[in-house]
Amino acid sequence: MPDAGVHRVVIVGGGFGGLQAVHGLRGAPVEVTLVDRRNFHLFQPLTYQVATGALAPGEIAYPLRAIFKRYDNVRVVLAEVAGFDLAGRRLQLKPVADVPTPDSLAYDTLIVAGGSRYSYFGHDEWSEYAAEVKSLESALTVRGRILAAFEAAELETDPERQAAWLTFVVVGGGPTGVEMAGQIGELARDTLRRDFRRIDSRTGRILLVETTDRLLTSFPPSLSAKALRSLQRLGVSPMVRSTVVDLDADSVTIDHPGAAAERIPTRTIIWAAGVTASSLAGTLAELTGAELDRAGRVAVEPDLTLSGHPEVFALGDMVRVRAANGNPVTFPGVAPVAMQQGRYAAKAVQARLRGQDPGPFRYHDKGNLATIGRGTAVADIKGLKLSGFIAWVTWLFVHLWYLVGFQNRILVFIRWSVSFFTHGRGARLITAQATEKVGNRPSA
Ligand SMILES: Cc1cc2nc3c(=O)[nH]c(=O)nc-3n(C[C@H](O)[C@H](O)[C@H](O)COP(=O)(O)OP(=O)(O)OC[C@H]3O[C@@H](n4cnc5c(N)ncnc54)[C@H](O)[C@@H]3O)c2cc1C
Repeated sequence: MPDAGVHRVVIVGGGFGGLQAVHGLRGAPVEVTLVDRRNFHLFQPLTYQVATGALAPGEIAYPLRAIFKRYDNVRVVLAEVAGFDLAGRRLQLKPVADVPTPDSLAYDTLIVAGGSRYSYFGHDEWSEYAAEVKSLESALTVRGRILAAFEAAELETDPERQAAWLTFVVVGGGPTGVEMAGQIGELARDTLRRDFRRIDSRTGRILLVETTDRLLTSFPPSLSAKALRSLQRLGVSPMVRSTVVDLDADSVTIDHPGAAAERIPTRTIIWAAGVTASSLAGTLAELTGAELDRAGRVAVEPDLTLSGHPEVFALGDMVRVRAANGNPVTFPGVAPVAMQQGRYAAKAVQARLRGQDPGPFRYHDKGNLATIGRGTAVADIKGLKLSGFIAWVTWLFVHLWYLVGFQNRILVFIRWSVSFFTHGRGARLITAQATEKVGNRPSA
């Protein structure tokens, strides 16, 4: 337990924001407690590679205890945050995986970085059929469904049902949707090409459905156009100005403006559209009266604290930050924003302990990257627009640099090098969990 009298900082969330806040407080005259409902940090930008068998789960996740084993002033608690007693300065906890946990934790400073989750535009029932790739568990479900679909197609004798098994629909044309569709394209065209006897995996149909008029709307239009062409070369059919209006175990219905809605038989739908903030944002907004936007993000002050609670910081995907004019600004929902905010919060805590004013948080935009396939990516770095191989090498090194754990960096680098030359994917496993889910779906 923390020494009596030492300033107690409790950090919720061992994701990108929380991790940087802990790093920044290493060796500071404070006792840090990191609370997460998972015992590992997950590198979400690469979960789609687990979902397509390119990487194994352990290569993109790292135990929080291992990360902080040499941080003497840091302890890790495995628990789910159930609520906040802001007046009493206590965090309410509930157990995870039957691990007994204290009911609450006292803090002097609280830093909340609970992240976000995918939203299904008010159709939560769709999540049963359209899995996403935000958590490791759902990435493994997606991996099982994609691989099981090829297996089912190989055994199916009815051509229509076989075509449905070989139709993959990715919903959402942002970076995750583009990366996911590109990876399924490579899997079908290269990796699985010689694995089956009855089907030709290259005949698989991969649809990427996007509501707006172009893919990758956070990139300049010229890079969106390049990404579209690269996807087409991988056998992906991008469908822009198209909206998924219904889906079930056997099909997806897509609305195209000015045309009748189209029902497409498919057994594999991957959701990569729309996120909503962690429910912790809503709880904090309710307790403090702070604004919530439509995506469930709570508005925080320019120094990332909650209005009326300078001892509570909130950051990352779950917040919007009030600008000097008082209006909340939405930063992109990307790792660099959360990381910079985590680092800022750690510095602000220390500045305050020295009696100094930390000043407002300032975001430094370093650019945007998205990979499409082997040797192809797009990058927009401070106005410098890159595409093709050079963008892919940039993407590769940036991701290796930020991946947590030296061993993981080496393993991923080796895996990517081997895959680059062999077109192989070493982690093409259908695990029991995913098989059950696929098997439970009504058969055609
Ligand atoms: C599939 C995918 C691909 C992405 N690709 C990129 C990319 O290429 N580049 C990029 O910059 N960004 C990417 N992002 C976005 C990036 O991952 C997020 O912006 C970033 O993770 C936000 O960091 P965070 O700290 O706010 O939340 P997270 O990193 O999500 O961390 C939140 C943490 O809080 C914990 N938590 C939540 N609720 C509770 C609770 N009640 N109790 C205890 N613990 C809790 C969670 O377990 C988690 O560890 C991607 C996201 C996804 C889903």
